[in-house]
Amino acid sequence: MSKNTITIARGDGIGHEIMDSTLQILEAANVPLEYDEIKIGKEVYESGVMSGISPESWDTLAKNKVFLKAPITTPQGSGYKSLNVTIRKTLGLFANVRPVKALVPYVRSNFPTMDVVVVRENEEDLYAGIEHQQTPEVVQCLKLVSRPGCERVIRYAFEYAKAYDRNKVTCMTKDNIMKHTDGLFHEVFDEVRKEYPEIESDHYIIDIGAARLADTPQWFDVVVTLNLYGDIISDITGQISGSVGLGGSGNIGNDFAMFEAIHGSAPDIAGKDVANPSGLINGACMMLAHLNLSDEAELISNALLATIEQGIHTADIKSKEYTKQIVGTKDFTKAVIDHLGERPKHLKSASYGHNNHGIQVNLEKRDVPEKKLVGVDVFIDWTSDDRNPDDLGKRLDADCGEDMKLKMITNRGVKVYPEGRPETFCTDHWRCRFIAKDASAGNYTEINGKDVIQLLSNLNDAGHDCIKTENLYEFDGKRGFSLGQGE
Ligand code: NAD
Repeated sequence: MSKNTITIARGDGIGHEIMDSTLQILEAANVPLEYDEIKIGKEVYESGVMSGISPESWDTLAKNKVFLKAPITTPQGSGYKSLNVTIRKTLGLFANVRPVKALVPYVRSNFPTMDVVVVRENEEDLYAGIEHQQTPEVVQCLKLVSRPGCERVIRYAFEYAKAYDRNKVTCMTKDNIMKHTDGLFHEVFDEVRKEYPEIESDHYIIDIGAARLADTPQWFDVVVTLNLYGDIISDITGQISGSVGLGGSGNIGNDFAMFEAIHGSAPDIAGKDVANPSGLINGACMMLAHLNLSDEAELISNALLATIEQGIHTADIKSKEYTKQIVGTKDFTKAVIDHLGERPKHLKSASYGHNNHGIQVNLEKRDVPEKKLVGVDVFIDWTSDDRNPDDLGKRLDADCGEDMKLKMITNRGVKVYPEGRPETFCTDHWRCRFIAKDASAGNYTEINGKDVIQLLSNLNDAGHDCIKTENLYEFDGKRGFSLGQGE
C-alpha cells in the first residue's frame, strides 16, 4: 500500500509527550503514513514571527494537505495572532467537527448514551474579528455570514451524517432575532435538507437547543450551527460527556484538513509524564477515517476503549470504582499498544463509517440576483443634555436636502423617532434611515450612489458627526435589511 505523507507539529507544553504517544501507537498499528514535521507555536512566536508559523511550514502544509497538530501555547500580549484561527482561515477549513461520546461508567457522566457530533462553521460569524468603537459610548462587532459559507458547512454536516451512518442533522440558529444572518443559515439548511430525505432533520432556536443539549443530549445526533454557538455548544457537549480531555476534533476544508485534541498545551503538567494522550489519539483516528483508513482508525480506537474499560487510566480520569491502575503517558501508550486487536466488552465499539475520504461539498450554482439601492442608514454620534430624539429628528429633516427624507431614527435598534417612547434609554449612537423623498410608506423607490454622497455632504455641512453608513438594498425585490423595532 502506498503511504500518504502528512504534516505533524509537536506544539508546546504536553504537546511533545502526547504526539510521541500518538505516533508510537500509529506505528504499532502499522498505519501506512509518513511524516513531515514542522515547528509552530511558542518558539516561532518568540523568534519574532507574530503568526507563530514560518513561510517554509506553510509550504509543507500546502504540499501534504493533512495536518496532525499538538496543542500550542499562545503567548500573552497583544500583537500575537491565534495560530489556530490563522490556519483555519488561510487553508479554508470551513467545518470544525467535534464528536463527543460518553464512556460511562469508566468516565463519569450523567448521560450514558450520549453520542453527539457538533459541526461548527469555522470561518465567519462574529469571529471575522471586525470591531470598531464609533462613539464614546458604543462599540460594535460585525457578524458576517455568507451563503457559500452556510452552504459548505451544512452540506458537509449532511455528507458527514451519510458517511458515518448517522440518522439526524439538527440545525441551531437564533433566526427569530437575527432574521438576515441566522435567517440565511436556516434558509440554506431548509434548502439543503431536501436533498437528503433519508436523513431526519430539524431546527431549534439556539437557546432552547443548547438547553435541551445540556439536559437530554441523547436526543441529538449531528448538530450544525454558526461559529459562536458551535464554539459554546461543543464545549457543553464535551463537558457533560465527562471527557472534554479525551476529545479530538477535525478542521475540514475541501483541499486541506487539520486534526488535533480539544484541550490546550497544559503547561502546568508539561514534562511530568502525566498527560492523557487520548484527545490527540482520537484526533488522529478522525484523521485516519478522513484518509480512508477507517479500519486502522477502528483498530486504534477500540484498543483505546478497551484500555480505559479495563481500568488503566491516566490521573485526570481516575475514579474510585473503575480505576485499577493509574499510569503516566508512557505506560498508557504501552497499554493501548498491548490492546491493539481487542474490542471493548461493555462500551460500544468504535465505528468510523465508510467512504469518508475527503467528503467533498460542491456548491449549487445560483443566478446573481438583481440588486436595487433604496435608501441608506446613516449612523450619527450625537448627544445633548436630555438626548431628546425629536430634537435630532427635526434637525435631520431640515438638513438632509431635497432628494431624500428621514424615515426613522433608532437607538440600539429601537425606534425613537418619529413617535418614540420617552421611557427608552438612548446612547450617543443613532441609526438614521433615509429614503427617497418620493417613496411611499412600505414602498421603497430606487436611489443612486450620488444621492447618498449628496446626503452625507449635506449632513456634514450642517455639522452632524456621521460615523458610518449602511446602504439599504433590495435583492430581486426582497428587502435585504432589518426593520427597526417598532418601525
Ligand atoms: P488546557 O486545556 O491546556 O488545560 C486546562 C486544564 O486541563 C489544566 O489543568 C491541564 O493540566 C488539564 N489538561 C489539559 N489537557 C490535559 C491532558 N491531555 N491530560 C491531563 N490533563 C490535561 O487549557 P489552558 O490552561 O486554558 O491553556 C493552556 C495553553 O493552551 C494556553 O496557552 C492556550 O492558549 C493554549 N490552547 C491551545 C489550544 C490548541 O492549540 N488547540 C487549545 C486550547 C488552549
